[in-house]
Amino acid sequence: MKDLPFTYDVLIAGAGPVGLFLACELRLAGVSVLVLEQAEDPGSPLKELPFGMRGLSVPTLEALYRRGILSEVSLSNVSGIHSPKTSSAPHCDNDARRPGGHFAGIQFFHDKIDVSQWQYHLPGPVATNTPTTMATLESVLATRAAAIGVEIRRGTRVQEFQQSSTEVTVHAGGEDLQGRWLVGCDGGRSVVRKSGGFEFVGTDPEFTGYSVQVEIEDPDALATGRHYTATGMFMYQKPGNISMVDFDGGAFHRTRPITIDHVQKVLRHISGVQVTVLALHQATTWTDRAFQATTYRKGRVLLAGDAAHIHSPLGGQGLNLGLGDAMNLGWKLASTIRGQAPDGLLDSYTTERHAIGAQVLDWSRAQVAIMRPSRSSRALEAIFRDLVYTTDGATYFAERVWGTRLRYDFGCGDHPLVGCSAPDFELADGTRLGEYLRGGKGVLLDFDGHSPLLEYRNLFDEQFVCIASDVKERLGVSAVLVRPDGYVAWVAAEDDESFVEAASRWFRMAR
Ligand SMILES: Cc1cc2nc3c(=O)[nH]c(=O)nc-3n(C[C@H](O)[C@H](O)[C@H](O)COP(=O)(O)OP(=O)(O)OC[C@H]3O[C@@H](n4cnc5c(N)ncnc54)[C@H](O)[C@@H]3O)c2cc1C
Repeated sequence: MKDLPFTYDVLIAGAGPVGLFLACELRLAGVSVLVLEQAEDPGSPLKELPFGMRGLSVPTLEALYRRGILSEVSLSNVSGIHSPKTSSAPHCDNDARRPGGHFAGIQFFHDKIDVSQWQYHLPGPVATNTPTTMATLESVLATRAAAIGVEIRRGTRVQEFQQSSTEVTVHAGGEDLQGRWLVGCDGGRSVVRKSGGFEFVGTDPEFTGYSVQVEIEDPDALATGRHYTATGMFMYQKPGNISMVDFDGGAFHRTRPITIDHVQKVLRHISGVQVTVLALHQATTWTDRAFQATTYRKGRVLLAGDAAHIHSPLGGQGLNLGLGDAMNLGWKLASTIRGQAPDGLLDSYTTERHAIGAQVLDWSRAQVAIMRPSRSSRALEAIFRDLVYTTDGATYFAERVWGTRLRYDFGCGDHPLVGCSAPDFELADGTRLGEYLRGGKGVLLDFDGHSPLLEYRNLFDEQFVCIASDVKERLGVSAVLVRPDGYVAWVAAEDDESFVEAASRWFRMAR
């Protein structure tokens, strides 16, 4: 009799950063995972500097910190990029005139950001956006995945799949593989999304963007920095790194090879300077096509990362959005597989993450509107520039770009912390909340050690770490329930006498 194939709990298509991070989250929660990656070799020059540079947002850095791998992604390991210090107070003298990020190329500066407006932000290891490279991030995640027992098969392309009410059969690399669930983390041109019939809706591109590394005959002929011109935008960093945007309706992208003659022609057209390109070392193109799947789940098949949403790299948010998907999905899917999830938990993945994705897509569209080579866009840019230079403006843009404004709508709980990333409370013994999230469980932190609340401890051992400890700064709170992804599910305000009863109700419900 032929042996039945092993059925994995989860099959993941794609070992990019999102697939790898999701695999780690699922494995941490104790489920079996097989990752299928089409490329034989994870290495690529496009994942190294300069093109492989990625800005990690505060929610991403918090996620890495909460899993104990923040220092491994740290830039001290990546030569060629300046590592900003992670300080408890981004607003200090050394930060004066230090750029904090940009919106359509309009920079905001640290000295204008009023962090006192972030009432629930506590000093901790994560303060502001930090750059890394795709190569570093993927290598850290792949090493962690292997160490905790994730199986990764490289050189194995997912071609198609069929799902039943109990499992998914994936045809990949000439074999049929069985999983109880399939997650498509296979990038913008996702096979899983297409063969799963997911609706993908959005707006068509207005431009082709280029990132090129060239040798120019006279490197001083072009002005360095970012420039809006009558025909597009270019950004030049000596000696030969150029990003440029050609408003061609996205016509060039992936339709023809990127030749030296073409790059020279586009560069001359956009810059208005008769530069001569002597050599083309590296080149890639992208567009501002902004599309999103209308749902991230169909039966036993889910999408995460670029497979679920694509947009221009302006403002650098795609990777962060995808890693946020993985952090949100991992514990929910694992809990569903273990039979511990309350009704609707898995569907809250689409509800919560689709809303955040839609905001990011609109953020990228708004930047395109300012970049268009038109008189009205230049006027809009001038107004935005004025706003960005105000304290409230800089603070707003920092919140959006760094991701500190992210709040899920759970449809319950009116305390401003509910749905937000948990403040990194420092406990009486000097440990911090983030450290208790490393095992991938949620945390109940009760500052006053109310015994009725802790009575529930045994019931939730598998899913929550229960701690009774005072904290250094209470922020007007006396107990907090934090989900495994670090977001606040429930809070007891300090003056709320009825919170024990309310918490007990919450726990009974969650059970
Ligand atoms: C120039 C540029 C700059 C950017 N800068 C930033 C930034 O600063 N910050 C930021 O947050 N984002 C940035 N982004 C976006 C970011 O790189 C992507 O959003 C991110 O890489 C998405 O990760 P992913 O794992 O979802 O997809 P990908 O990185 O595309 O990985 C998908 C993986 O799936 C594999 N795969 C594909 N099809 C199959 C298949 N059929 N079977 C098996 N495997 C398959 C691929 O080989 C790949 O390994 C930038 C993008 C570009 C182009």
